[in-house]
Amino acid sequence: MSNAQINPYEAMQASLRVASELYGLDDALFKVFMAPTRSMIVSLPVLMDNGQWEVFTGYRVQHNLTRGPAKGGIRYDMNVTLDEVKAMAAWMTWKTAVVDVPFGGGKGGIVCDPNRLSMGEKERLTRRYIAEIMDIIGPDRDVPAQDMGTDAQTMAWVLDTYNMHVRRTENAVVTGKPLSLGGSLGRNEATGRGVLITAREAMQRLGKPLAGATVAVQGFGNVGSQATRLLHEAGARIIAVSDSKGAIKNDRGLDIHALLKHVSETKTVTGFKGAEAMDPSALLTHPVDILVPAATENQITEDNAPKVRAKIIVEGANGPTAPAADPILQENGVLVVPDILANAGGVTVSYFEWVQNRQGFYWREREVNERLVDYMTHAFQATFATTDKYKTNPRIGAYILALDRVAQAMKYRGFYA
Ligand code: GLU
Repeated sequence: MSNAQINPYEAMQASLRVASELYGLDDALFKVFMAPTRSMIVSLPVLMDNGQWEVFTGYRVQHNLTRGPAKGGIRYDMNVTLDEVKAMAAWMTWKTAVVDVPFGGGKGGIVCDPNRLSMGEKERLTRRYIAEIMDIIGPDRDVPAQDMGTDAQTMAWVLDTYNMHVRRTENAVVTGKPLSLGGSLGRNEATGRGVLITAREAMQRLGKPLAGATVAVQGFGNVGSQATRLLHEAGARIIAVSDSKGAIKNDRGLDIHALLKHVSETKTVTGFKGAEAMDPSALLTHPVDILVPAATENQITEDNAPKVRAKIIVEGANGPTAPAADPILQENGVLVVPDILANAGGVTVSYFEWVQNRQGFYWREREVNERLVDYMTHAFQATFATTDKYKTNPRIGAYILALDRVAQAMKYRGFYA
């Protein structure tokens, strides 16, 4: 099956089904988890710079609200679909439970090409979207953040639109904001830092140090580039990276400082002088200690999984491994740090941001990073303890850990009928 044919929501459901059976989940709860609580579809008329009106489609999905307000990013991408947003909202339910922060799972998206929108068009689109989903978001309802195609500026427009409507300051309505609007120190690099922390833990599990380990990174957006930089600073050797335009490699190790400069100037890793070009699909099967898929869904499938030669996969992206690939990787002894653990550093610092906003008291960067290490290492240990207890793979272990936490909360609350 090609990756475009794999429906991300069905992929989420497949892992949920395996985890629920192994755990012995109550049938009623299983049915509740299989469908999101609320899905909203909005049409967004936007005045384009050429004077024409265009109508975009936007979504906001809340998968589960048992443990707290929905939490999750907003994605701007041409490939956004309702099922993709539903899958990502569910993954946020599991992710927030794995790191044990008091949120449910939500996600939003707009079908658009953010690279072809001017700043003005992007601002008008964002404001109209927030105005349309106004009734279901808020600091105690659903708290968006950034995802692919959105950034701190987008979050600032979210904040402003919401605050103009409610006519008061509600910084905690959105996270990933600029520092001057109540953003948190350390949020921008938090997902990459979570990848670093879990990669180090995974290497330790194999009895090896992170320093000197070889690494390949697929995707060079916020997560991929920050993970690359932090892994390099921790002494790992980054030998291959890719983005949507191509891939490069240098088996002696890429000069990351020079690469980051090249990317900030040219907006792509391709054409970097200190490396040779490589086939982007070959990056996933390149022999390395650590592979970090940090692009989009379904990159590792049953077709290329048998050829993966990495010892560890740390999933920076959401859903990069198709369900059919998991047993193959497990069989071949590849240690997978699943997305709902590996990339949870972002939402963990989003939680810290929300807490700081509500306290009106801001932490030093060192405090943020120390607390992140604490949350991520606890989540890692709990995931692998569950994996060992149920004699399963770490993805299913992480799902069981998460659904146990959500199920416990749901049992106390009961169903309101
Ligand atoms: N979009 C990020 C994710 O997929 C961050 C979500 C958040 O901080 O709420 O985890």
